Amino acid sequence: MTAPAPAPSARRLRTRATLLAVLGEHGTLSRAELSRLTGLSRSAVGSAVTDLLGEGLVSETSTEAAGRGRRATAVTLRRAHALVLALDFGHTHVTAAVADTAGTVLGEATAHLDVDNHPREVLAAAETLARQALAVAGHPLDAIGAIAAGIPGALDTRTNVVRAPSTLSQWIGMDPAAELGRVFGRPVTVGNDAEMGARGERAYGTGRTVNDLVYVKASTGIGAGLLLDGRIYRGASGISGEIGHIQLPDTGTWCRCGNRGCLESVASIVEVRRRLAHVLAPGARPGVPVDLPPLAELADVPAAARVIGEAGRTIGRVLADLVNCLNPAAIVIGGELGQAGAPLVNGIRESVDRHAQPAVAEAVEIRASRLGLRSELYGAIDAAVAAATTA
Ligand SMILES: [Zn+2]
Repeated sequence: MTAPAPAPSARRLRTRATLLAVLGEHGTLSRAELSRLTGLSRSAVGSAVTDLLGEGLVSETSTEAAGRGRRATAVTLRRAHALVLALDFGHTHVTAAVADTAGTVLGEATAHLDVDNHPREVLAAAETLARQALAVAGHPLDAIGAIAAGIPGALDTRTNVVRAPSTLSQWIGMDPAAELGRVFGRPVTVGNDAEMGARGERAYGTGRTVNDLVYVKASTGIGAGLLLDGRIYRGASGISGEIGHIQLPDTGTWCRCGNRGCLESVASIVEVRRRLAHVLAPGARPGVPVDLPPLAELADVPAAARVIGEAGRTIGRVLADLVNCLNPAAIVIGGELGQAGAPLVNGIRESVDRHAQPAVAEAVEIRASRLGLRSELYGAIDAAVAAATTA
């Protein structure tokens, strides 16, 4: 056991992040090169390298400088040891994962709990889960270079607070980045879950070669994360992509936002499950929960595939307008409903082809997420890696 190290100063943290960023780009550099590339003094580089060596984030080898007869040292980023902590908050779960900068998850822990209604307990659980994930990975919290979290609610980027309409009713007015910063004693990057999903698919999933991507998280709510021209687009106040509240013609169902006919009032996972229960267990009494098989297993059940396809066509009707506006190269469908796979994707495709302009419809690929329900977690890993290497 070693004694806990004193908290490093802000300047020291900045120096450390600068060195990690330059090493992330070049891999191996001498101390002199580090000093030249960063503009930092040799002594600042020296003490930061000592810190990074102590944390196991870099290794240093001594080599004979060619033809000069003196020793030079090469500092190498140990990518497997540059660690980040990612947190994925869903409506009914929290997952903490420790990963390296290549996105390999080294330790992970999940708890199932009511995230929407108990923010304080959820924040405490996040800390416990982070410690469990670190224990699995075999590293202390001090080894973590950056932390990022995705939350399933509308986050105002001007004030950092959760805004209505949000399924996170008890989180409205809260500043999750500040709360998590207090929990972990360091800055935490926070984004909404759809944004994190777009990041995850771009960095590690099915959108790796794509610069214009719409990620749709289709679960209890329906939201879109927009990656435009290679960058996440959040809008003026961070609330872009709320496609769940786009109104459909000929639909009168009340939505939790107070309007009628919103997309998520007719095509959320809750509605789709209700209809599936109706067709798969027609004798079930209303109000009695029905055990449904996982959506991924229902593609070959004709009545179920029809229900899922209809939800796809409804979502596709809204996405057709988005495709007309944004001309994306890919739409990636994630969230619980996204697990339905082909019947859902085919339904969306049908509506996009029917309602979007032909030239933009043919330019867009529509795919199910390759990361399953982990797009948001991988997005938080990507956001933390970016924070660790560019801060
Ligand atoms: Zn609504």
